[in-house]
Amino acid sequence: MSRDDCIFCQIVDGDIPSRKVFEDDTAMAFLDANPLAPGHTLVIPKDHYETLEDTPEDVAAHVFGAVHRLNTAVEHAVDADGTNVAFNNGEAAGQEVPHVHGHIIPRFDGDGGNPIHAVAG
Ligand code: 5GP
Repeated sequence: MSRDDCIFCQIVDGDIPSRKVFEDDTAMAFLDANPLAPGHTLVIPKDHYETLEDTPEDVAAHVFGAVHRLNTAVEHAVDADGTNVAFNNGEAAGQEVPHVHGHIIPRFDGDGGNPIHAVAG
């Protein structure tokens, strides 16, 4: 997939609007268009890599540094009790947008179970 066909590259380029919460030279974060909870945030590298395997380690480390800082900010912003932080990596894992991205999903006491336990049955 080329940058031109990638939804998240178009968001980076400003061709698709987003509710941006963070940006630096390497990474960007914006609110998910279909949030699983208030404050559901996506963190991406600005360059196009489909999966974690495709992503250079220094870029992945930079993106995860942003996840680390934003996780605290998002928790405080929506007064969450916890978060799920996840990278759906590859189609088999449910990755729908083929541009590597981390989810920060705020969680609240009593809002449901652990999604990984749900997968494991
Ligand atoms: P995945 O299933 O690939 O891990 O997650 C893709 C996420 O991207 C989904 O949570 C979906 O709601 C979100 N998403 C898809 N298209 C757009 C878009 O155009 N803008 C934003 N902000 N989020 C999107």
